[in-house]
Amino acid sequence: MLGLPVHVMTNYPNWLLECLYQGRGTHVVTLNAEMTMQAERNTSLAEVIHQAELVIPDGAGVVLYLQLLLGQNVQRCPGIELAEKLFTEIGQKQTATQVFFYGGAPGVAAKAAASWQQKIPQLQIVGTHSGYHSPEEEAKLLATLADLQPQIILVGLGVPRQELWIAQNRHLCPHAVWIGVGGSFDIWSGSKTRAPGWLANNNLEWLYRLYKEPWRWQRMLALPEFALKALVYRLSGKSVNSAEC
Ligand code: UDP
Repeated sequence: MLGLPVHVMTNYPNWLLECLYQGRGTHVVTLNAEMTMQAERNTSLAEVIHQAELVIPDGAGVVLYLQLLLGQNVQRCPGIELAEKLFTEIGQKQTATQVFFYGGAPGVAAKAAASWQQKIPQLQIVGTHSGYHSPEEEAKLLATLADLQPQIILVGLGVPRQELWIAQNRHLCPHAVWIGVGGSFDIWSGSKTRAPGWLANNNLEWLYRLYKEPWRWQRMLALPEFALKALVYRLSGKSVNSAEC
């Protein structure tokens, strides 16, 4: 994907469950067109994406690129849905799993956690923390994580903050599955809504976000930029780093 890896799998939740139960520390990056364009300008972000154990095709642009330009049979896997499927699998397996939610406005992660805890009692949400805080509070948060050693740590700080933060701190819980989940806590807490299925199925989720959050227009210029770059990249015959797992 424009020099970035994408891991193509048929069942991401199962692969992650294996990591979880074997205590294999894993960083999951949810790649979309916007993040790809950011990584072109931000070498630290690009490095983190290269080092992540799992890079999933989160956005419609990434999937279209892999399908249309590379002829790969790839299904979209939004990060929010990956986390939801992982939690559902944990519920079905009846295995107690310790989870931590970090990010979002004050109270949002706690509300999201309460909602999940009610749906899936096997999820032991051992802690939550807002994404807006002082450096002193962050030091406390890091000490808490090191002490609790949660098995799954969801980080919703937005791109690229969450990816860089995970890369910097994952050594504190080396056996955990860390996922950058963007605005997922906002959705689970009921503060925001996702696009209706018919828009998502037609690769138009971005249009819904633009309608709900018009301030995103500038960030979304990354989408046509991505489409153009993807085409040029492909036509230039450069090799594509897409790992088949
Ligand atoms: N956020 C945060 N701390 C910050 C900046 C943002 O916790 O300093 C949260 C914000 O409240 C929101 C999420 O990060 O819940 C970013 O969501 P968005 O949908 O914008 O993510 P992206 O589009 O970058 O994946």
